[in-house]
Formats: sequence, structure tokens, C-alpha cells
Amino acid sequence: MDFENSKAFALSLDEQDELKNLRKEFLIPQHGGRDAIYLCGNSLGLQPVRAAAYLQKQLTNWHELAVEGWFNGDEPWLQYHQSLRATLGGLFGALEDEVTVMNSLTVNLHLLLVSLYKPDSKRFKILMEGGAFPSDQYAVESQVLFHGFDPKEAIIEVFPRAGEYTLRTEDIIAAIGQHADELALVLFGGINYYTGQVFDMQAITKAGHQAGAYVGFDLAHAAGNVPVKLHDWGVDFACWCSYKYINSGPGGISGIFVHRKHFENPDLKRFYGWWGYDLRKRFQMTPGFVPAQGAEGWQVSTSPILLLAVHKAALSLFDEAGGLSMLRKKSLLLTAYLEYLIGEINQKHGEELLTIITPKEPQWRGCQLSIICKRNGKLLFDHLVKNGVIGDWREPDVIRLAPVPLYNTFSDVFSAANLLDESLVILK
Ligand SMILES: *Cc1c(COP(=O)(O)O)cnc(C)c1O
Repeated sequence: MDFENSKAFALSLDEQDELKNLRKEFLIPQHGGRDAIYLCGNSLGLQPVRAAAYLQKQLTNWHELAVEGWFNGDEPWLQYHQSLRATLGGLFGALEDEVTVMNSLTVNLHLLLVSLYKPDSKRFKILMEGGAFPSDQYAVESQVLFHGFDPKEAIIEVFPRAGEYTLRTEDIIAAIGQHADELALVLFGGINYYTGQVFDMQAITKAGHQAGAYVGFDLAHAAGNVPVKLHDWGVDFACWCSYKYINSGPGGISGIFVHRKHFENPDLKRFYGWWGYDLRKRFQMTPGFVPAQGAEGWQVSTSPILLLAVHKAALSLFDEAGGLSMLRKKSLLLTAYLEYLIGEINQKHGEELLTIITPKEPQWRGCQLSIICKRNGKLLFDHLVKNGVIGDWREPDVIRLAPVPLYNTFSDVFSAANLLDESLVILK
């Protein structure tokens, strides 16, 4: 599309937006008596208006049914999580029994590594993206130590080439090949949190399997943002959080994917808890663990129904959007418009003051653009926030802006770019 750098053009795109009605389903934070320009859904998605009603419904059930709520009422809590699986399956390209909701992200990463990081003296290495989100680095390091290996030897990080910000798929594949005989696991983000790069999950999975390793993904930044096909790609496992693009609230409940091929895999160990026990016999309370069929067999503890209620409210909006395909279409346009406007700013100033390090090719990015400012990056960022444009700052030098198709508008993007431009003049 040929974009134009004008408010009128942004408004016309908003007018044509088939998903525009979804914005009113969200509570937009206020700044100076107006809606803030919230471009931070990559960190914490906004609150769905209906979250309160979904939560209140379960509070009422708790009041009226008390313990009977587990078994009675129109949404018995015992199976409440199962009502989310169809939507989640759609978002992740998974069969319904390959996904479940439980715990939080890093906890789930640990639980999945218990099952799918099975090092021995020959195959003990984990290959991951350099500069992965810190929690993932810590989790992996501690798993390696737990198994008695040396992280310096066991963790292989693949970094971008000198002078480049993002990874080349060919370099990832080559690194997998280089360590093939010693690799136990390839663990990547679906999207790198810092650069916003979408990794070629299909190619990485194929290469990892050819090397004889398991392959898993942390989809924190991909979940609800870009379509993935975990089942068809043959990915062994994945986990994500629900509070970024899925809008299920700060510290909201997370989810996992385990490929069906592992349901009956007797080699996989796991950590047991009664919520992973076959539901048909769970309340017989007998010794000897019998896992539930599917991803549910990895559950450990009682479902936190209040968190699940908010998650359900948030997921219902993806149902109303018809899944990810229309959202993705709008997202590609929103982000391309932001990219175009940043190009306009650079042109106007006669130098590249703002460098976008996120890949240019639409299929290799989601909502987010990561921007390095040539001068005064942190000052620029603070100025944006002070004036109602909410993005985030990631050390050492990146501003992340993520227009989200569920609630952001083209006018939001235009206003944010306008303020960026103004701020650059002020900070010159
Ligand atoms: C946001 C994020 C996390 C956060 O993990 P929590 O356990 O929810 O605190 C972990 N990994 C990645 C890649 C993330 O983007």
C-alpha cells in the first residue's frame, strides 16, 4: 500500500479497518484527559472491558456454590481450563489436547525442560539464540547445572554476525549442524524480545530434528501476535505467557504445548502433581501416578480459576476477531505504517536518527519495531512517555513500539510518529 504522512490518511485507514470495533472492548489508559497512545502490548496487554464480568462471575460462583463449584454450575471449575483449549489450539496451530493452561511461563519452561532436556554424556548441549530473554537464560543455565554439566560447555548461543542486529536462519542451521552430535535440545524464542525478529521456527525444527535433538520454543512474544503451526511443524514443546499480546493480566496464567507424538513416549520423565492425574480417577486419591492424556498430563497444581476467568475473557476477543488471520493482516499494515513514518522522519531530518533493527521483511516480524536512536535515546524515550506515548525502553539502547491490532489505531501510530519527530527537534 502507498502510505501518506497525514492525519487524514491515518483516519481513513481507521475508517476502513474491519476490526475497528474491537478497540472499545479494551480499557485504554488515560493521559492528560485523553486516551494514551499505548504501544506497549508486547510487555503488558490492555485490560479487556469484559475481564471484570468474567472474574465477577467466578467470584459469584465461589460465593454461591463454594466447594461445589468444582463440580457444579454451568462452568465446573474442574474442567474450566478445557474451555480455553479450542481458542488456544487455533492461536498456536495445535490440536486441542496438545495445549493446556497452567502456572506461569518460566515455571512451565522448567517443567518442560524436565521432560525434554535429557542430557547424557554424549548429547548434553542446548543451542539457543544469543541475547535470549534473561529468564530463559537463567532457566537453561540452572537446568544444565542441575544435570551436572558446565553451562560454558553445554550452552551454545548463536549471535548475529558482526555489524548485524538479527540472526540469519542459515547461521542458526549451520550452528545446529556444527554441534549436531552433541545437541540434546534446540530452544529458541519464537520472536526475540529485543529485536522483534521472528525466527524461522519451521526450519529450526527441521534442522534440530535432523541433528537428533528435541526442539522447543518460548513463544512469549509470538503468542497472539503471529500465527504459528506447532503441530504441523512437528515442534516438540512450547510455552508462552498470556499477559503480553493475549491481554490476560499482569502475571496472568500461562500455557504449554506438547506435541502429540510425546503423549505415549515412555522415555519422557515429568514432575507429577495431582492436577496432571487422569481426571476420571483423580479423586480416588490412590497412590501411583496416572497422567491425564495429552498436555494436561503436565499440569501439577489446582487451576487458579480467577486467573483462568480473565484469560477466558481475553481469549474470547480472539474468537470474535475470527482467530489470528484478520488480526495479522491489520498488524502487518499497522507496523508497516509505523515503519514508513519513521522513514519519513529520517528523511526530513536528513540523517538516519532512528534506526529500526527489526527485520524489514514482514514475515520475519510481528507487531513490534525496535528502534535505536542515534542520540539521546533514553531522553527521547522519557519525553515520549511524558507526553502520553507509552512504549518501553530496553537496555542498552532500544525503544520498543508495538502497535497491536486488537486495540491500536492507525491514528495512534500517526500520533506516536508525530511526537517522535517533535521530540527529536526539541532534543537536538
Ligand atoms: C516476557 C518473557 C518472559 C517472562 O517470564 P515469566 O515467567 O512470565 O516472568 C520469559 N521469556 C520470554 C522470552 C519473555 O518474553
